Amino acid sequence: MNELHNKIKEIAKENGAVLVGIASKERLADSPPSGNPEYILPSARSLISIAVTMDKKNLRDFLGKKDWLTHGNERQKMVRTIYLIGDKISAFLRDNGHEAVLVDVNNDYRPEEGAKDVTEMTEFLPDFAHRYAAVAAGITRIGWSGNVLNPEYGALLELGTVITSAELEQDPLLAENPCDNCKMCTLVCPVEMISKRESEKVTIAGITEEIGKRKPVTCCFIGCSGYQSLSPDRKWSNYSPYRLDNSLPENKTTLDQLNIRLLKADPMLSLEDNSFSDYRKAIFNENWHMGVVCGNCRAVCWKTRSDRVENMHLVTDSGVVILSPSGQHVIADGEIIEVQTPYIVKVAMSKKEYEDAVNGSVDIGQGFTPMDKEVLRYLFGRDSKK
Ligand code: SF4
Ligand code: SF4
Repeated sequence: MNELHNKIKEIAKENGAVLVGIASKERLADSPPSGNPEYILPSARSLISIAVTMDKKNLRDFLGKKDWLTHGNERQKMVRTIYLIGDKISAFLRDNGHEAVLVDVNNDYRPEEGAKDVTEMTEFLPDFAHRYAAVAAGITRIGWSGNVLNPEYGALLELGTVITSAELEQDPLLAENPCDNCKMCTLVCPVEMISKRESEKVTIAGITEEIGKRKPVTCCFIGCSGYQSLSPDRKWSNYSPYRLDNSLPENKTTLDQLNIRLLKADPMLSLEDNSFSDYRKAIFNENWHMGVVCGNCRAVCWKTRSDRVENMHLVTDSGVVILSPSGQHVIADGEIIEVQTPYIVKVAMSKKEYEDAVNGSVDIGQGFTPMDKEVLRYLFGRDSKK
């Protein structure tokens, strides 16, 4: 048994994992429904949690809105690494006579009554929550943000999980929670998803944590997808140039309905190949790019409080992002115009650049995300739908 345990860790570390831990399925008996490994593999006995980390300079350039794309490209590579490590561990376990399944890294949600597809979902419960596995396997604890933290890497982790029928020796739980309640995670969210003061309890692996009370998950979906990028005081944004007319509704049903309308209007969701139809395929597609615009609550959460404070300032002191006619997401420098798009959201642009683009005196780029492409085509393209 020890031999399997050690070999699994060796495979993970040799292939790029910074953390790997193992837990028995019993550790998750008290977790919320997404912590049930038998949903993925009925013969589950153990789970292996693996984590890779990200480059801090790229991340700070992202938080300070100096460089949009490098961090997203790196995140895509990190997910590829998780898939490759998970495949190797699964193959090793199968070669040793056990069943093993690599849980999809993202965008795999449990069916919801009345929802035809992801555009009609409102709860987004994952088939299996990697965060719960990472706590049970002793590599992280849950912080105020609801993200998982490790004493060395903070929340800068991308997670993967292998579930297996093998009975493996498990690792001890992480004794101390690295979260010191600095609340920087609450200050960098454009949609104020996480309460600064109100808390709720969550129990994973026998550990009950008091974490920040969270708004409905559709609230994060709206901010993290970039449909609402602007902070409530309109002084800063995440890395998206899109925004909504009004502040988000407090009422869950109204918020859920808004998210459904936004998802149904989003050009990305009408593509046959999108990251919701097959995440793994998208991640390995050389022509698909992870256009990350948020994740700020996780990205600010580094090991030391002084770094976290600095990260918070990078986000909130670096202004507002607009869409340039060339298709880049850049910091606004001058007067901003908000132009209505056919996709419910307005797009923020430089007033001067917008007028120059309408007059045909600047080159129009292709855009990067499906939304950017369609918006640029709609506003300035020859096949304009205006
Ligand atoms: S930013 Fe601070 S409060 Fe938020 S999860 Fe990290 S350590 Fe905890
Ligand atoms: S990912 Fe962005 S929108 Fe979602 S909770 Fe974190 S900061 Fe807020």
